[in-house]
This record gives sequence, structure tokens and C-alpha cells, in this order.
Amino acid sequence: MKIIVAVKRVIDYNVQVRVKADGTGVEKENVKMSMNPPDENAVEEALRIKEAGNANEVIIISIGDEKSQETIRTALAMGADKGILVKTDKEVEPLAVSKIISKVAEKEKPEIILLGKQAIDDDSNQTAQMVSAILNWPQATFASKIELKDNEAIVTREIDEGLETIKLSKPFVASCDLRLNEPRYASLPNIMKAKKKPIEIIEVGDLNIDIEPRIEQIKVEEPPVRQKGVMVSDVAELVNKLKNEAKVI
Ligand code: AMP
Repeated sequence: MKIIVAVKRVIDYNVQVRVKADGTGVEKENVKMSMNPPDENAVEEALRIKEAGNANEVIIISIGDEKSQETIRTALAMGADKGILVKTDKEVEPLAVSKIISKVAEKEKPEIILLGKQAIDDDSNQTAQMVSAILNWPQATFASKIELKDNEAIVTREIDEGLETIKLSKPFVASCDLRLNEPRYASLPNIMKAKKKPIEIIEVGDLNIDIEPRIEQIKVEEPPVRQKGVMVSDVAELVNKLKNEAKVI
């Protein structure tokens, strides 16, 4: 049984993102890039499923430019078996990414596709849902626990009201929450081993998929700078400011 895990290369979450002066996007040159954080949870979960004897191959897919291979290598160093890079230098929207993942899944025939719940750069939270729709497979989004039983999975989901538990049949798509597990660090021997693991490179054009953007980005700008806070000396002064300056009471 195969598991496909989708990993995206994004600006590292510790980096202070800067908007380009011309407002066409954010600076990515000379900026530290990493695997999208919930995608690490997805990789970890796939490895745990394999280690429990419920899968025999973990395949990592990333859609992006040549450098996305580094992100795939990170997942291979964690323990995944092989990688697939679908190469494109263009920005791909979640719909295009979903079509690509679905197409690769039709060929690889996994029983589980794991993704992150959300990419921290575009904050779309759409890809898992669209992959599920395209393949017509059941989906479990925001998974914080996945238990496999024969041909079924019991998945606990993080929702606004608390925790929801659902049952799905395989094959299924799940998007992983940060609370799902604690991703492992790659050990040095595994980093060395990962260098020899195969990464298949597919040119996006060879998949015959329409990846044209459906969204036109008009402008990117910095959020307004927050005003400096003021210290008040007592409650009376606070109430006075809330009433007369902020006019919130
Ligand atoms: P999004 O719908 O853009 O918030 O992304 C949700 C998840 O889809 C991510 O956490 C990844 O698992 C996957 N994903 C999105 N974009 C890509 C990409 N370019 N390559 C591989 N996986 C991706």
C-alpha cells in the first residue's frame, strides 16, 4: 500500500517576510526556505503508518521549481522512500496543484494521500479538499489523529466546536493539523542515505493539465504598522481613554 505526501517549499516560518517595493509579491531571493510546517506532520504520519506495517511505500510529491528538490530530500531524510518533483517555474494555484497531485495519484495508485492543512504562504486551505473532489475520494481535513483499521480510517478532526471523529473508507485524502504528531528530525546517517534515494522529475507540460491561473493578483502590501501602546497609571485613566479616545465604551 502506497501513501503519497504533498510537501510545499515555502519561506521559513521564522523569516520576517518583506513585500517587494513594486508590490508584485514578496521577496524570495536569498531568503531561507523550508518545508511547509504541517507538511512535516503529514510526512511523519505517513512514516508512522508505514512503520506500523500498514503501508510499504511513502512517496513525496512537490510541485515547484528545481529547488523544491531540497524539500523533497528533507522528507526522504526523515525516512520517505522516493520523491516526485513536478517541475514548473510558474506560480501554481491550489487548483492546479490539486489537478497535478490527482494525476500523479492516478498513476501511482496510493490508498492514502496526506497533505498539510494549509500552506503558510498563501493560507489557501484548499488543496486537500480539491484533490478529494477531483478523485472523488472521501476527505478528512484538519486531522489530529488517524487510526487505520482494515479498509477504514477513524480520523479525529480539529474543528471550532472541539474534536470531531469521522470514519472514512480507503482510498482517502487527509489534511494534517500541527497537533497530529511531533515530526522527527532527520539523523545524519539518514541525511546521507537520502542522497541516494530516487527523485523522479516530471515536466509539468508533460502532464497535459491546464495550470493557467484563475486568480489575478492585483497588489501585495504590508499590513498597516500597529500604533505604539501607552501605559496608563490607573483604572480611571484607562476608562477615560476607552471612553473619550478609543470611544469603545
Ligand atoms: P493550500 O491549499 O495552498 O493551503 O495547501 C495545502 C497543502 O497542499 C499544503 O500543506 C501541501 O501539503 C499541499 N500543497 C500546496 N501547494 C503545494 C505544492 N506546490 N507542492 C506540493 N504540495 C503542495
